[in-house]
Amino acid sequence: MTKVHLPIHEHSNGRPQVGLAIEPQETGGFEPRIIAFVCKWCTYAGADLAGTSRMTYAPNVRTIMLPCTGRIDISLVVRAFLQGSDGVIVSGCHPGDCHYTSGNYRARRRWMLLRDLLDTLGVDLRRLDLAWVSAAEGAKWVKTIQQFTDDMRQLGPYSALHAVAGDYSPDLAPLAGSDDDAPGVEVDAAEAGVPLDPALAAAMRQALEQGTAKAILGWKRRIVPGPLQPTWITEASAVGQLMVAVHGGNLTRLFKQPQVRKLGRVGLIVRYREALALNVLLQEKQLDPQQTLAFGVDGQGHFLGVVDWADAGFIRRWETSTSAAEKPSGFSEQTWQSLDKLMALSPAQRWDFWQQHFVRCIKCYACRGSCPMCNCGQCFTDKNMPQWFPTAADGPGNFSWHLVRAFHLAGRCVGCGACEEACPAGIPLSLLNASLARSAWKHFGHRAGATSAGVPLQADFRANDLENFIL
Ligand code: SF4
Ligand code: SF4
Repeated sequence: MTKVHLPIHEHSNGRPQVGLAIEPQETGGFEPRIIAFVCKWCTYAGADLAGTSRMTYAPNVRTIMLPCTGRIDISLVVRAFLQGSDGVIVSGCHPGDCHYTSGNYRARRRWMLLRDLLDTLGVDLRRLDLAWVSAAEGAKWVKTIQQFTDDMRQLGPYSALHAVAGDYSPDLAPLAGSDDDAPGVEVDAAEAGVPLDPALAAAMRQALEQGTAKAILGWKRRIVPGPLQPTWITEASAVGQLMVAVHGGNLTRLFKQPQVRKLGRVGLIVRYREALALNVLLQEKQLDPQQTLAFGVDGQGHFLGVVDWADAGFIRRWETSTSAAEKPSGFSEQTWQSLDKLMALSPAQRWDFWQQHFVRCIKCYACRGSCPMCNCGQCFTDKNMPQWFPTAADGPGNFSWHLVRAFHLAGRCVGCGACEEACPAGIPLSLLNASLARSAWKHFGHRAGATSAGVPLQADFRANDLENFIL
């Protein structure tokens, strides 16, 4: 029988508090630490009912009350694990019963995406659960916690994840297998560029002369050999300096620069990857359609015409085959194949794969800087009042960063590959991005950038979204 101490200790408010301490050494066995994030309107009341009804259950759970399951955030889950939790459970009102109407529907959708991301990372999904428990279901709460605790006892301590939070020294041995076998993505050096199509050059000159665009974003050659360099021009006479990069980068990211925004209406060369990104930004209302004049070009730099944002089907201009339109976003075939290889590994192998990559991350944030979707004036991970995230380039810092970066792009990443191209450490970020894009497509039929209309994936829900993974 587990012995539970209820020691009295001093809280910072000066009042004595009763804390819960489980002493595994006194149990003769492992006692898991479990964090439960519960909605105050349903599950918290249900747990209270269990208490007032004198029901007993495993004392391994620390309960943290949230206003709604809709408040659950990946940062809370990661933090719980990094601080030593062996399992995390989230619980709230049944669908249709949310105090705020739809918070639990949103949580359900996010939870599905989170599970798929964690699975790609090799996290043991048995250590996470979501349960609907109403205020009247004290007995269900007891059963849920008892079962979850028993499962965690069987699984033992989550040493693999706790090691990330402690002495972080993963073996830097080369990844197993030959280079051909290892999941990963070839990054194009983005050197290739073509001169402007004459029709494109004429349209640009006209736009600058007539003032329909105050500036035009494109590329130019560098002084030293290397990839083409993004640039902008404001004079029609400078159009001849511009080129079209066949591969690499994403010009749309320049829209987040205040210098560009204050120019007014800006023209830019739009390849497939920019078109997808612009659609996402328009859908999220990050960009005013009147602010952009988009000159569409195909993969060889041929002018496709000026993009009409009112034409919801314009994205089809780049998608010459039906199969392209059926794939989630702009990831390359090679990325999908690499993802298949990765997912064919066991969870433990996937975990090792990512740990060996994450240890090389130097937290330079080039991935963030190159991404057209990272638009926040101050990144959530940089906030320090309060500090939600470990900022150092170490185990907890890197693990948290990669989870959060990928998750914040769920349903938004268009697969342009700019982040991976920018990464000096060669981390295959596209695999994480693609796994979430596949999840969004598989579960919700969502393709990032397919249209500028509608509601962004994580701001939306359907009453019949999948929930066969919920207790
Ligand atoms: S996360 Fe990477 S691939 Fe996705 S939109 Fe941002 S830069 Fe492009
Ligand atoms: S660009 Fe690469 S090294 Fe830099 S923060 Fe991103 S993943 Fe880490």
